[in-house]
Amino acid sequence: MGMVHVKLSNLRFWVFTAAIVWLNPALMFELLKSDTVTRARLGRLTTAHGVVETPVFMPVGTQGSVKALDPRELDEVGTQIILGNTYHLFIRPGLDIITEAGGLHRFINWSKPILTDSGGFQVFSLAKIRKIKPHGVEFRSHLDGSLLFLGPKEAMAIQRTLGSDIAMVFDDCPPHTATARELRAAVERTIRWAGECREQPRGDGQMIFGIVQGGSNAAFREECARAIVGLQFDGYAIGGVSVGEPEPEMFKAVEQTIPFLPENQPRYTMGLGTPAQIVELIARGVDLFDCVLPTRVARNGTAFTRKGTISIKGGAYKRDWGPIEEGCPCYACRNFTRAYLRHLLNVNEILGLRMLSVHNSHVFASVVADVRTHLQAGTFAEFHCEFLANYVPTRRVLAARQVIHQ
Ligand SMILES: [Zn+2]
Repeated sequence: MGMVHVKLSNLRFWVFTAAIVWLNPALMFELLKSDTVTRARLGRLTTAHGVVETPVFMPVGTQGSVKALDPRELDEVGTQIILGNTYHLFIRPGLDIITEAGGLHRFINWSKPILTDSGGFQVFSLAKIRKIKPHGVEFRSHLDGSLLFLGPKEAMAIQRTLGSDIAMVFDDCPPHTATARELRAAVERTIRWAGECREQPRGDGQMIFGIVQGGSNAAFREECARAIVGLQFDGYAIGGVSVGEPEPEMFKAVEQTIPFLPENQPRYTMGLGTPAQIVELIARGVDLFDCVLPTRVARNGTAFTRKGTISIKGGAYKRDWGPIEEGCPCYACRNFTRAYLRHLLNVNEILGLRMLSVHNSHVFASVVADVRTHLQAGTFAEFHCEFLANYVPTRRVLAARQVIHQ
């Protein structure tokens, strides 16, 4: 009798929980712990393809592949979720191919969660815009000049077809150099388009995140955040950062937006950043990050370490028999010396950039994993100070950050 009773109450509990999650998608994010010194948070995001522990870093698979890494390597470095680009996948290979494959997860053989952007950023930065219309943008493909149209309705339909776990709304992301008038127009359009995205059907279990624009203008950020939050999305992104602005302005834009975002939902800064910036943003209350830096700088021979970056191609490493980073447990550091990797990079052997990509991706994943451990233990504030004191950013990496979305 006792057993039956326990089982029944368990069943009741699960039915009850499932009903709440179904009725209120916001509960797909659990806020597990808030830091008492900073605004950092430990959370858990439950998606259709598994659980994501936050804070989390998402490697970018622009064209359906995180450059130079296969899914096994992504797994090994501790990747929980990757990002796919709507604009690029829409243009090539096209939706008919991805539909035939059974969705993006199957096409690229990645069984864990995927977040897709809406294509808005690329339309506004890569494509040749022909006309901004009330319900989207008419543009020419950066590839072959063909005339295409992308708006809230199309962006949601594409992301539904891709089958991503988290879809992003279609927004207007103006450059850092935009005037106040242009910023205002972008905020208005972003709010209107977010409303249109909200009305579109979504895929099974697919979450939708809203995006807040407004540059580093406090009034625009507040207005946009209040309107977007009013539309009730599953999470919120701070967009319009990493668009060429100086670092202090980026932090300012984030600080101006965070107070208007709900405490119990995930927050995501799009296109950021270096390990030090990620730790800084976590301390300001951000949970999700994506950036092409780990694999992009690997291609020019730059390795991330806990103390900043080093250029492995340099002559100093010609006879260096140590690993890229002492104590790093990644495959590249366990198996190869700096001298060998330097040689590979200098003769353009693919293995060199692959191994640097493995190491760099491991650094990003392990820094956020350490953050989670410290948040759990209540020692994040100390970790935050120590990490930033040890980390020396280099100009080269900060410059690479300016063009990260391609
Ligand atoms: Zn390593």
